[in-house]
Amino acid sequence: MANPLKICVLGGGESGLGAAKLAQKLGHEVWLSDGGALASKWIEALNDLKISFEEGQHSMPRILASDLVIKSPGIPEGAAVIKAIREAGIEIISEIEWGYRHCRGKLIAITGTNGKTTVTTMVHHLLSKAGKEVALVGNVGHSFAGAVADGRHDYYALEVSSFQLDDIVHFKPHIAILTNISPDHLDRYNNSVDAYAAAKMRIFENQDANDHFIYCADDALSVKYLALYPIKAQSWSLSQESSVKQGAHINKGIIEIIINQQKDMDINELALQGKHNAYNSMASGVAGRLLNIRKETIRESLSSFDSIEHRLESVLQIYGIEFINDSKATNVNSTWYAMESMQKPTIWIAGGVDKGNDYSQLQKLAKQKVKALICLGVDNSKLHAAFEGDIPLVIDAADMDEAVRMAYKMGDKGDAVLLSPACASFDLFENYEDRGRQFKLAVRQL
Ligand code: ADP
Repeated sequence: MANPLKICVLGGGESGLGAAKLAQKLGHEVWLSDGGALASKWIEALNDLKISFEEGQHSMPRILASDLVIKSPGIPEGAAVIKAIREAGIEIISEIEWGYRHCRGKLIAITGTNGKTTVTTMVHHLLSKAGKEVALVGNVGHSFAGAVADGRHDYYALEVSSFQLDDIVHFKPHIAILTNISPDHLDRYNNSVDAYAAAKMRIFENQDANDHFIYCADDALSVKYLALYPIKAQSWSLSQESSVKQGAHINKGIIEIIINQQKDMDINELALQGKHNAYNSMASGVAGRLLNIRKETIRESLSSFDSIEHRLESVLQIYGIEFINDSKATNVNSTWYAMESMQKPTIWIAGGVDKGNDYSQLQKLAKQKVKALICLGVDNSKLHAAFEGDIPLVIDAADMDEAVRMAYKMGDKGDAVLLSPACASFDLFENYEDRGRQFKLAVRQL
């Protein structure tokens, strides 16, 4: 290579490893620095690749001797190490920017507060069914830069968090999808919805007239903020409330994809239930048509898509009671969509660490659909205060086993038990996956 750079990757983990792997493949001089302890699987991977690294510290002289720093999305802008690198005038980019700079395939990038994993997985499913070489990357669990290093994909379905968008420069997806915006993660944005939304808007900032941008026209915050930022790409909107000129809407209960004000195709049958999943299917269908995927393939993909673990995942029916795992619902907005999709009298398990939740948005639906609320958190006082008037029974459980047993005991044939916590899980569980798995285990042991 003509001009190898000294590259420092900050932060181990999936994205750090992928970034380092790509840097090495390109012939640069790369090392990795992580201020905390690295998990043994990352140490093994680094050793296998013969990439040098440090953990438990940041050796500033070596970091400041870098030409380029690639930072993991977990490291906040305010961290001392980032401040020092910025002061030294060294370029800092995110892993997705790094992957983008070397990516030869078509990029479909998905961001938003909720629905990212679902849409990214749907787009991936649709392209796979169409026989394309497509990688499923980003927040879904596989590094984008790592997949670029493997170099065999023609398409990348990339889930992007707002943190990853914070440090992009040229990043320019051919298709960008913004699912929705609702206040979340505000702690990283000085409690400012404006700043959080601004980060999400960056997904289309480098797009041009040959690119496409898909958004939800029924989402008030998306519409509010999109009006403030110039969109150069072709815009496609999704609505279940009115008709659209370009995008997708509902006509007599059926999804229609509209191109140039004409119906291009309709989609009758969706595998995933719920209003939110209709938006997700619309977004994926429009993206599929923009990539010239056959209508029949799109219909088949959207009617055969399996639910993803922890997202309205139907676990078991026991004596006519259905158990549903929606552990991924870590905020009120997600739980609203889960509750909205419930067609049966519901016993709702909720609670955990609340990031300043406003439960009033759920009260109307809870009153219509929920017959009992089982609170599963260290501090359940807010849930009691919000729902005691609207739900006939609100009780506490000490752990997941107890919550599931209580739900089963009070359930009748034809009811559903929904775990959709509206809260983070860190008080009683390792993470939302652990919470969902404990739920499934408890259900299977009934
Ligand atoms: P993310 O990857 O953005 O966290 P997921 O696809 O994992 O989102 O879905 C998490 C939860 O968010 C789902 O269980 C559902 O309750 C809710 N959700 C999914 N899609 C949407 C959407 N389009 N709009 C609002 N909420 C959604």
